[in-house]
This record gives sequence, C-alpha cells and structure tokens, in this order.
Amino acid sequence: MGRFEVTRRGFLVGGIALAGTAVLGSTVGVGSAGATESPAITDCAGWAARPNSEIVPVWNQRPVKILVHHTATPNGGDLSQGAGFSLSRSIQNFHMDSRGWLDTGQHFTISRGGFVMEGRHRSLEVLRGGTRQVEGAHCTGQNVVAVGIENEGTYIDTVPTGALWDSLRATCAYICTRYGIAPTELYGHRDFKNTACPGDALYGMLPRLRGEVAGLLGRNIEGGATRKASWPLLRPGDTGAVVTAAQYLLRDNGLTEVVPNGHYDAATSGAVLRYQYATGAENVGMIGGETWPVLARTVRSSEDGDAAKAVETLAARRGAERVPDVVTRPDWQRLLGTGGAPADVSVDPTGPPR
Ligand SMILES: [Zn+2]
Repeated sequence: MGRFEVTRRGFLVGGIALAGTAVLGSTVGVGSAGATESPAITDCAGWAARPNSEIVPVWNQRPVKILVHHTATPNGGDLSQGAGFSLSRSIQNFHMDSRGWLDTGQHFTISRGGFVMEGRHRSLEVLRGGTRQVEGAHCTGQNVVAVGIENEGTYIDTVPTGALWDSLRATCAYICTRYGIAPTELYGHRDFKNTACPGDALYGMLPRLRGEVAGLLGRNIEGGATRKASWPLLRPGDTGAVVTAAQYLLRDNGLTEVVPNGHYDAATSGAVLRYQYATGAENVGMIGGETWPVLARTVRSSEDGDAAKAVETLAARRGAERVPDVVTRPDWQRLLGTGGAPADVSVDPTGPPR
C-alpha cells in the first residue's frame, strides 16, 4: 500500500466531481457525412476592418486545437449583423491601439446574434486552404497551434444565446473538417492561462460542444471522451481542500509564509502573484491552466514535505480512491476533481492532406 493510499473511513467516492461542467444529454445528431459545410463567415473587408499594420505571419503547419474565448463585454440585446460588425471593429481598434498588436488577435469572432466574422486578416482564406495557420494573438503559447474564437459576451453565470451557440458549433465543426482536428480538441482559454475566460458557464458547456461538434462530423464520441483533463480555476475568496492543496504547493515552492488553511486569503493571493511573476506567468492572482502544471510537480510516496501533504489533502477528500506511489500530472488532475481524457493532438487521417 502506498503512503498516499487512503483507507476507507466512511466516505466513498461518489460521482465524478468535474468542476463547472455539465454534460447535457448524449451525443447529438450522428450522421454519416464526416464533413461539414462552412457557415457564413464575413471576411475583414465585409465588416470594414482597418488594414493590418504589419505582415500577418502564416505558419506552414496545421493547428491542432480550437480555443474558445468570451469577449468579456456586456451581454447586449442587439442581435443584428451591424452590431456584430461594430463589435469586430471595436475589438480590432482595442487590439491595435491599446495592445499594440498588428491586427485583431483572434482568428474568428461570433456575435450574440450568431454572426461569424473573420478576426485577423487572412484567417478565413488560410482556413479554407486547410493546410496552414495564421499566427494569432489570443493565448500566449497557443497562437501558432490553436485557432482562437472570441464569442461576444460575458459567460460567468449566463449561457450564450442559442444563435451564438449554433454558430459556434458550426464554426468549430467546419474548422475541424478543414484541418483534420479531432472534435475532442476544443478547449477554453483557462485551460492554458490563469484566466476566467471563457467564463464558468461557457467553459462548463465545452463537453457538450465537443459532443455536438462530433455529431456534426458524423462521429459518435463517448461521454467520457468529451470530458478532457483540465485544472480547477482558483480565485481569491475560494475555500476548501483544493485551496489547501494549492497552498501546500506554494509552500513547496519556497513561499513558506502561506498558511495552508483552505482559504484563498490575501496572503495566498500575494504569494500567488509573486510565484507567477517568478515563473513568467501572467500574474493575475488566480491559479488556472498556466500555473497549476508548474505547481503540481511529480511527487513520490517516499517524500514527506509540503507537496506530499498536498497529495494527502486531496486524497483524503476523495475517500477510498487509490493514489499511485508516483503522482504525475494526470493523477493531480484526477485528485483535483478535474480528471478526464488526455489531449489528443494527433492529426486526423480523414482530414485534408498536407
Ligand atoms: Zn480568452
């Protein structure tokens, strides 16, 4: 028996506690086509984009995943195409004038009315070609391997409009078809960065999105495959065993002023900011998909320091579940309650040839 193995003490592991997700129903619309038509997408000229300020880099490789974002703008009631075009222009102005970027950061934008627009110049033309990737500016570290889609609105505790959802699903299916991306490879911004984007509500709908996109592609993916391994998003004010585990891991990294009390308090926030600064992460004071993977190092059952205490804390919470003698990333994700299928970046053989 490994040191982390927890004996039965009255609480058995119940259902899988997958933070913030809700798998609604089963896989939808299984057909036989295996390919989808393009939704209507308005190119940059169509919404009167400014010219890009520098040449848009285009990489001679296909992206392997899609990242879903929300714009964190108000959930407005104007569902017209004109409102979508106006949104596209305001994002471009913000990205070029305030961020200093050469153009819009994301590849595509979807309005609350369900209108789909090209973001960065050439994104649509290059997508149609199906073999190359426009370099975006939507998620550091993912910009040459992931297509970024910005969805208008703020989806923390509100879900998108039906029109937006339908267009998001159709756009993802088309992108998967053109590039041969597996429909399981749809992620949220927070899977890679310490951010609330695309909002708890929309992030929780990603398993459903994967299932529905698979349906449009004529695939039937099992419920388990739609739940990808991820990380919980911890924010100031949160409480519980996951916070305690994070506090132990901060201590393991030398931030011994952190008290492992299960409260994401001011001292913890300060330590997180210092840790993120030191590790070159976006230091926003939340622990998400960028900071968890560096905090949650491999831990062996022979250890007895703070990292081992983090494992023990989570194992106790999860009851009779067996903990391996060497805890690696998938084990951490399972212990944190966000386990699932691993990323699959292999190229779909049914996709277009390179
Ligand atoms: Zn985002």
